[in-house]
Amino acid sequence: MLLDTYGRVATDLRVSLTDRCNLRCTYCMPEEGLQWLAKPQLLTDDEIVRLVRIATTDLGVTEVRFTGGEPLLRPGLTSIVARCAELEPRPKMSLTTNGIGLERTAVALREAGLDRVNVSLDTLDPETFQRMTRRKRHTDVLRGLAAAREAGLAPVKVNAVLMPGLNDQEAPELLAWALREDYELRFIEQMPLDAQHGWQREGMITAGDILASLRTRFTLTPEGQEERGSAPAERWLVDGGPQRVGVIASVTRPFCRACDRTRLTADGQVRTCLFATEESDLRGALRGGASDAQIAALWRKAMWGKKAGAGIDDPSFVQPQRPMSAIGG
Ligand code: SAM
Ligand code: SF4
Repeated sequence: MLLDTYGRVATDLRVSLTDRCNLRCTYCMPEEGLQWLAKPQLLTDDEIVRLVRIATTDLGVTEVRFTGGEPLLRPGLTSIVARCAELEPRPKMSLTTNGIGLERTAVALREAGLDRVNVSLDTLDPETFQRMTRRKRHTDVLRGLAAAREAGLAPVKVNAVLMPGLNDQEAPELLAWALREDYELRFIEQMPLDAQHGWQREGMITAGDILASLRTRFTLTPEGQEERGSAPAERWLVDGGPQRVGVIASVTRPFCRACDRTRLTADGQVRTCLFATEESDLRGALRGGASDAQIAALWRKAMWGKKAGAGIDDPSFVQPQRPMSAIGG
């Protein structure tokens, strides 16, 4: 298994399939000027499936989430999902996406074996959407969400980041909409992972702010900590339940002690944390002819070096070189 020196075991693998994207969310990417990974640097579909196989059969990974950049931009996505669905033991598979194009692909992805999706949507207002993502694609996201629900990729979760002065007033409205549409809404605190290094602790919308805003309209009852397990979202029953809302408070209430993640970037580097400053090169090993056992050993060694926590709220915190879009959120 993948064990670290603090006794944590990684069973949840995040695989980034590309660093490219068709949106330019201000908290993630600059308008222009990001250097993309060159094609030869990217893992091939075969390499990805091989690494997922090693992770699931040799290293105890039970859940795989495909992400990016925008994973729907990867031409081989459906076939990667289908091939991973044939692995023994079969991992649970989900996708984190901005939803653009999901309208066309949701059924095929479901048939290939995808279990769930998380779609990112920060606002119900098309103009605010355009300000936040620098693109006019709001309707595409809404259509993608509806298609995911109809395809049975349930529960469909919606990820929202609140930004001061842009959509910070929208939390109750977003929740009312999600309840109506039967999506499970989760707010994510903005983290220092933007390529421009523009994140500021002062002024960021905290979990406390979000909950206070939601409580102006809804009664929230905390779900037991046992139920949270290693899931990063703290969840609340809304107006007595059964529908819920989650808050992922990576900055103000980090969950590092219960972390069960390991990450693979689109260019084949293992990262033990979003905020890791070191990576371990699996692509070099793959292409140098390493055996499955040797690759598994490299991955175990990387995990053993996992730090206790991300420490975003600590004065000594240093933002990683790679932005969120290149790590895989
Ligand atoms: N493009 C896909 C999407 O947007 O869902 C997948 C990749 S994106 C990097 C994954 C998630 O990270 C999204 O929900 C996005 O809102 C979130 N994200 C990106 N930058 C972030 C930041 N600086 N702080 C918090 N969440 C961020
Ligand atoms: Fe693209 Fe997702 Fe980053 Fe937005 S958050 S720019 S959709 S990778």
